[in-house]
Amino acid sequence: MIAISSGKGGVGKSTISANIAVALANMGLKIGLVDTDIYGPNIPGILGSHDRPIANPETGQINPVEAHGIKFISMGLLLEEGTPIIWRGPMLAKMVHQFIANVKWGELDILIADLPPGTGDVQLTLTQSAPLTSALILTTPSAIALEDVRRGVEMFRQAEVPIFGLVENMSSFQCDACDHNEYLFGHGQSESTAKELGIPFLCGIPIDIKLRECADEGQPAVNNKTITAGSRAIINLAKDVTAHLEKN
Ligand code: ADP
Repeated sequence: MIAISSGKGGVGKSTISANIAVALANMGLKIGLVDTDIYGPNIPGILGSHDRPIANPETGQINPVEAHGIKFISMGLLLEEGTPIIWRGPMLAKMVHQFIANVKWGELDILIADLPPGTGDVQLTLTQSAPLTSALILTTPSAIALEDVRRGVEMFRQAEVPIFGLVENMSSFQCDACDHNEYLFGHGQSESTAKELGIPFLCGIPIDIKLRECADEGQPAVNNKTITAGSRAIINLAKDVTAHLEKN
């Protein structure tokens, strides 16, 4: 089981989690994705599937929903669209537990947990109660996002969850018209922060219009017939994930 986490919201965690999950499934692996971001459960939208999960009244087990070759569960599948969640600590912990233990995942090679941003109750419950092999931390290159990465790293260290590494999303933007490459949020800071914190810097994923368009359409970009720089970076990252998990 691997956690994908970020210090800040809006850095692309759900988009990257969903695409890594589908890229891993495309490699022939049995993949589950648990969306624990209950305040902003975007995975159903990104995967374009809002099917209601079916619960077995006798066992209390919930069947995950299947889309694009992966099984997933999300609070977004259980709520009416636009309904806000107003839960606090114990309810959140219960939900995390239900999503891990009460969902009929069947046989999986990898279960990916898309964590909410920050270091709150969900993260604590998951790091303390789920068998996490390691955590992948996602950031953007800006100093503000990187400041939150430090807190995330410290949380995983305190919970004794090994950190696989840091991935920089929205690294740069290449103009289609003139090929000019611009580092919109700065350049080099993520690598130096990773070095300073003693964690591997894994890769950068560029700003890629296709990634955003596909996410908005509910179609994973890694499955698109046009493989762009963003999807290619995610596919390569998925390969690194399998290599890392084989070693650990
Ligand atoms: P988070 O889960 O961290 O809050 P999201 O995955 O919801 O972030 O992404 C926020 C927005 O940024 C979405 O519209 C998504 O499509 C877009 N996005 C994420 N990564 C990229 C990227 N590399 N290039 C272009 N758009 C991206």
